[in-house]
Amino acid sequence: MYCNYLSLTNFRNYARLDLELPPRVTVVLGGNAQGKSNLLEAIYFLATTKSFRAGSDRELVNWLANTEGTAFARLIARVRRGHIVLNIEILIKEEVPREEPGLGPALISPLRTTVKRIKVNNVTKRAIDIIGEVNVVMFSPQDIDLIQGAPHMRRRYLDVTISQVDPRYVRTLAHYSKVLLQRNYLLRQIRERHGRPEQLLFWDQELVNAGSYLIWQRLAAVASLNSLAHTIHRQLADGESLSIQYRSSLEWSGDEIQSRGMVDSNSDSDLGEDLGRLREAFKQQLDSLQTKEIAYGLSLLGPHRDDLVFLVNERDMNIYGSRGQQRTIALSLKLAETRFMRSMTDEEPILLLDDVMSELDEARRNHVLAIIGPEQQVIITTTDLHHFTPEFLDQAALFRVEQGIVERIAL
Ligand code: ATP
Ligand code: MG
Repeated sequence: MYCNYLSLTNFRNYARLDLELPPRVTVVLGGNAQGKSNLLEAIYFLATTKSFRAGSDRELVNWLANTEGTAFARLIARVRRGHIVLNIEILIKEEVPREEPGLGPALISPLRTTVKRIKVNNVTKRAIDIIGEVNVVMFSPQDIDLIQGAPHMRRRYLDVTISQVDPRYVRTLAHYSKVLLQRNYLLRQIRERHGRPEQLLFWDQELVNAGSYLIWQRLAAVASLNSLAHTIHRQLADGESLSIQYRSSLEWSGDEIQSRGMVDSNSDSDLGEDLGRLREAFKQQLDSLQTKEIAYGLSLLGPHRDDLVFLVNERDMNIYGSRGQQRTIALSLKLAETRFMRSMTDEEPILLLDDVMSELDEARRNHVLAIIGPEQQVIITTTDLHHFTPEFLDQAALFRVEQGIVERIAL
């Protein structure tokens, strides 16, 4: 699949951009702070409806547009997927709630909220309906945070990756988040004696059903990523043996799942007995934790408490990895993700490489370039064309970005 047209209005430092993109390799050259990462962020956002770095969608709207009260940003992409053409449009809009009549001018400025409106081929869609329509894999220097950062980053990484290949995962995740909020609220109510433990029964069941599915698919995805990354890492890091494991808050041996790969989420019969056993284990452990959960006012078990560990020679690289080691592991993981995505969707995902070449030695750079499929679209940003061979640049389209303006250049 590839994106052949991108249009941005008031997105970050792009007041206005209309860009035709070729189906293969694009190199975007630019100095610091010119808009390289912003461009890739826009494509990533159109595919996942999320930014890979912004804390809130509001950050994405151009500052200048922000001063005028109700600001908006618009992103449009035209994507070809096989014979299908998708026109994806996302409008990010800030809305100021209207003043309450009769109350006079507000003493404090009313809270602004940011809303997202999404259309695919002119039909309004919810975010959870478009995730997975376009698959992207993003490489950036921040990927090292996956190894050295906090657990929530690794959970988010898994969620974004699996969501792109499993629509049921997206829906289940959205449901799980709501259940978690409700359940935590109820736990606190019970602690304050405003609720009864019997009320938990319904929420426990919801948590177990949705949570088990999420863990189940994560286990399978991690098993695939692990075997792919293991092979890649051995080559990248002089024979170093990498193992990626899912650490669940739930006590459960996932061996059976690891060997069978991801299930076809559309067929319930495929989910089989093992998922049933996972649910049972979840429910039992939840029951035995009830008193503690009420005391804490928090749900202590489930995919929201899980983590991913990266082991080299049995050592946890989050704790013991050197920076260079962590960076190489992140690269192995991303290369593995590309293959994983390809195997799950039978399509080449769009590769977005944000200034990663400068950090890599020549051998690793070549590994990155070697992963690019013959039919794959890849958009690479760089501050320096010297990181690429003349042969590579020969088959690439070159653009320069300066203060949010992109133009095609020749070598
Ligand atoms: P580097 O090489 O340092 O990574 P870059 O080209 O990737 O630079 P970007 O991250 O794309 O730079 O940012 C380009 C510019 O956009 C920066 O100056 C940044 O401050 C600015 N910027 C970020 N958010 C907004 C926004 N909401 N409105 C306007 N400009 C923004
Ligand atoms: Mg950047």
